[in-house]
Amino acid sequence: MRFHVVMAFLNNRGSCTCGWQGKRRWLPGLATSDAYIHGAESGHMPAGEPLPTDRQTKGNA
Ligand SMILES: [Zn+2]
Repeated sequence: MRFHVVMAFLNNRGSCTCGWQGKRRWLPGLATSDAYIHGAESGHMPAGEPLPTDRQTKGNA
């Protein structure tokens, strides 16, 4: 599962391929924080980072 941040004017929110969506935020930084908190709690990875070569061993984390 991978999360990312959807950014639009005054309507930024985190989103994840697992179906999670963060709260709507005015500030992109807050939406990013929400997304990373989700990642920390769920073990899901940010979509923007390079994929580790061993990702297949933990694909459904
Ligand atoms: Zn997720």
